[in-house]
Amino acid sequence: MTPGVRPFVAGNWKMNGLKASLGEIAAMRRAAEAGEAGRAELAVCPPATLISQAASVLAGGPVALGGQDCHAEACGAHTGDISAEMLKDAGAAYVIVGHSERRAAYGETDAEVRAKAEAAISAGLTPIICVGETRQQREAGRAIEVVCRQVTGSTPGEWTRAVVVAYEPVWAIGTGLTPTPGDVAEMHAEIRAALGALSSAGAETRILYGGSVKPANAQDLLGLANVDGALVGGASLKAIDFLGIARIYRAI
Ligand code: PEP
Repeated sequence: MTPGVRPFVAGNWKMNGLKASLGEIAAMRRAAEAGEAGRAELAVCPPATLISQAASVLAGGPVALGGQDCHAEACGAHTGDISAEMLKDAGAAYVIVGHSERRAAYGETDAEVRAKAEAAISAGLTPIICVGETRQQREAGRAIEVVCRQVTGSTPGEWTRAVVVAYEPVWAIGTGLTPTPGDVAEMHAEIRAALGALSSAGAETRILYGGSVKPANAQDLLGLANVDGALVGGASLKAIDFLGIARIYRAI
């Protein structure tokens, strides 16, 4: 954790969730209202089809809403894409950009991720900028170099609105594997230094850890220096698991 920085736990539903899943979002709201997340801020990022309905469920409550991607342009001939302005209009406050699944499946480059982050900021959203090394890069001893290059290339320069950075080792996503707490702390310290070189806001920018976070390992991973919360995939689909992670902030 970073002194003075409010922790943040965001759920990434990926391509999961139908209208019937809105009950989980309602349960997250009830739990947050009951103080179960302590001082942490919560957000859920459902698929685009559920954003408007989730916005109704969350309206006026403590849980924020996010999209999972946005186009760098505000509007135009981009069939199938969604702009940051549209997400904002639908009720989102955040948008994930540069998730490794998109970098891998669609070849998104750091420059494209940065353009999306800038579009998000322009639309009044806070981008959650994802970075992370592959297993091969870690085994080659290149994890820090790769991740710091992604941070520098994907993050807008001197920012005045908040941005969030999520460190998600690709090999830890959806695998049940996690880096050691020492490796997470080392990487987050490097990311903190890289952010400090980019912006005077770098010292207070929230850096999330993501990759197989669950209630059982949340305390060990999220209690570390410079770890200001989590980006949670699989364990965010059920309110009971998501809150089981956020609950650590009642005590720390
Ligand atoms: C993610 O995809 O952002 C993620 C962290 O997934 P999981 O928690 O399932 O590893």
